[in-house]
Amino acid sequence: MADRVRTGGCLCGGVRYRVAGRLRPVVDCHCGQCRRTHGHFAAYATAAKPALELVEASGLRWYGSSPGVRRGFCGTCGASVFWERVEGPEISIAAGTLDAPTGLATVGHIFVADAGDYYAITDDLPRFAGSAEGALDGGDVA
Ligand SMILES: [Zn+2]
Repeated sequence: MADRVRTGGCLCGGVRYRVAGRLRPVVDCHCGQCRRTHGHFAAYATAAKPALELVEASGLRWYGSSPGVRRGFCGTCGASVFWERVEGPEISIAAGTLDAPTGLATVGHIFVADAGDYYAITDDLPRFAGSAEGALDGGDVA
């Protein structure tokens, strides 16, 4: 059976992508960097970098937010779309940019020690003060 292909992109269409195959389910990141770049906590699925194909990249800009880490966003509409370790094997994709139906579900929260004081995390999903250290990996969804 062929890999499932998902599509997605930013609000204006300046960034569009296709991603083939399995994705790590969605993890909500509450760190201060994600909150400032997304305007709230960030919800990311993750793919192997070779599985991601940029269909439209005219709007894509990158911001180096930490040493070795960069965030991809649309320079036209401002959407936050990607997060990656430049030398790493995977790329995280902002779940809200995926076209529906995604077939994904949220599986946990990371960096909850840095969560904003204006909201509560009210579900029973696993929570980690910092990184999940791989504990939320696996369970990838085709
Ligand atoms: Zn855009």
